[in-house]
Amino acid sequence: MRKRLLCVLLAALCLLAACQKAPKLVEFSTFAMNTFMSFTFYGEGETENQRVQDQMNVTLRRLDSLFSVNNECGDVNQINRSEGQRVEVDAPTAELLSRSLELCELTGGALDITAYPAVKAWGFTQEEHRVPSPEELAELAGKIDYTAVGLEGEWVTLPAGMELDLGAVAKGYAGDQLDRIVRDAGISSALLNLGQSTIVAVGTKPDGTPWRIGVTDPAQTAGYFAIVELRDMAMGTSGGYQRYFEQDGVTYWHILNPKTAAPAHSGVASVTVVAPSALVCDGLSTALFVMGLEEGTQFWRDHRELEFEAIFVTEAGAIYHTAGLTDRFFLAEGYEDREVTVLE
Ligand code: ADP
Ligand code: MG
Repeated sequence: MRKRLLCVLLAALCLLAACQKAPKLVEFSTFAMNTFMSFTFYGEGETENQRVQDQMNVTLRRLDSLFSVNNECGDVNQINRSEGQRVEVDAPTAELLSRSLELCELTGGALDITAYPAVKAWGFTQEEHRVPSPEELAELAGKIDYTAVGLEGEWVTLPAGMELDLGAVAKGYAGDQLDRIVRDAGISSALLNLGQSTIVAVGTKPDGTPWRIGVTDPAQTAGYFAIVELRDMAMGTSGGYQRYFEQDGVTYWHILNPKTAAPAHSGVASVTVVAPSALVCDGLSTALFVMGLEEGTQFWRDHRELEFEAIFVTEAGAIYHTAGLTDRFFLAEGYEDREVTVLE
């Protein structure tokens, strides 16, 4: 009798231990960088999970305040008000600036972090949209020039009249930082959604299968035209449908061609980039949107060192993806009949 009781007790203890060891699902969401973000991870131990969640939230708040154009205490706002005087910035700002300037250079200025005066002139910042005159656009285009940004260690100089905008890269940088926090905590299964257009997949789903992420159909934004399987991979999408306004039957969106200061019309409706780094995904999705299909494909061929793959949807609805995605790209339900061209 005693023996049986002992066995039952032992079994109960084992079960309890197993329950405690099994990773727990943590889900939370927040509003940061002007967008709604949601996070999922599987971690062990309630106290540790709470610590990870807190660290993620604190990091997001800090980056948001550093990079926000509107926060008067933030680095970007101070640079923009510096009137050509040098400004000392925090380490994350210096790091993001340095890596962004590299991407600006690599993309031949298709990505340009000094586009802010033009973004403002179109009213995308305060959502009071207007179409600037051709003369105004020519003047604005003259103010966009990432090569004028001076960065020496943690000191930044920006000529008077110019303004920075890290909107095209900030969420990607934040994604990489959160990715590191999660991994450092020993978590091997997480999905970090920094506002639909930037996603970081840490490891796989707990059952070992890859995370499956939908890619928005730019023509019908409530739906997904494709699914991409991700393991230890980030994904970023830039699309004309994300922020735009219409005037006199013309659609104007928030991704600008730095050469013209006007919305980029390269023939694509959206570009998705898949790469290990979320910053690369964010920066390149914007840049490839400006370049368009042909130039973007050539950029992919020429820059294997960036380890990225891309999906293009043209304004006519044609779907293309680069060869490296062949085993990871699937047309979604209802889109099975669509033709897909693989870019080599
Ligand atoms: P989202 O932030 O909607 O995910 P993107 O990552 O493509 O989209 O970034 C677009 C934002 O970046 C714009 O709202 C604007 O602030 C800024 N921007 C627009 N065009 C460019 C450009 N060519 N290079 C750098 N930044 C840009
Ligand atoms: Mg971007």
